[in-house]
Amino acid sequence: MGIFSNIITIDGPAGSGKSSAARLLAKTLGYLYLDTGALYRAVGWTALKEHSNVQDEAALKALCAKLDLTVKPDGDGMRVYVNGQDITGEIRTPEVSRAAAAVAVVPAVRQRLLGIQREIGKKAGAQRGVVVEGRDIGTVVFPDAPIKFFLEALPEVRVQRRHLELRQQGLTVDLSSTRQEIDTRDLKDSSREISPLKPAADATRIDSTALTLEGVVSTMVRAIEQKRSGSAG
Ligand code: C5P
Repeated sequence: MGIFSNIITIDGPAGSGKSSAARLLAKTLGYLYLDTGALYRAVGWTALKEHSNVQDEAALKALCAKLDLTVKPDGDGMRVYVNGQDITGEIRTPEVSRAAAAVAVVPAVRQRLLGIQREIGKKAGAQRGVVVEGRDIGTVVFPDAPIKFFLEALPEVRVQRRHLELRQQGLTVDLSSTRQEIDTRDLKDSSREISPLKPAADATRIDSTALTLEGVVSTMVRAIEQKRSGSAG
């Protein structure tokens, strides 16, 4: 078995349900869960905190060179630390979402986070296995992973999900600004030059619009079983 055989990738746009699905799939399989969006959010959060311009490549390069970013499994989820400070809760705001999408177009940021993602993924993949979710996991971070998913859902459904998520976190935002946030990030994530959001050619595509979370995960488990029984023979 290769070092990538226990790595499962899930990519998709905001609100496609990939975080919840990745978490439940990891729990079902007994794998580790790695949310790579949280790493981009951590860089965005740090830039905002240091009052760096989130579009200033030189400032972001310097920030990444000294970035002390770590993650730890926490129940079914994951906690994120910058310089030892737990920022897991703070990185979920719309402001940090915008900053994350802005820093994500900068090559130095992607390069730094690529190293971190591969290190965590390979270590976990060699042990119990890992479900890694993001935008470019199946295409760039782990192109050799044997099992890849791409989750999609109708835009209005994604807006509703994201809005509910923010409200559950106690944030008061109106629906039209959530719609705007999703539209802007979709456009930025899929049109950027490096590592744009797109399905890997060998990814299984799942439309979660009319599916429950359990429905998405059981579809994934079936696809994994089929793939594994196919490659075992
Ligand atoms: O998944 P999440 O919404 O937390 O990601 C926040 C932002 O981080 C995305 O909008 C995207 O710009 C960036 N990102 C990325 N590549 C990844 C994961 C996230 O560019 N693999």
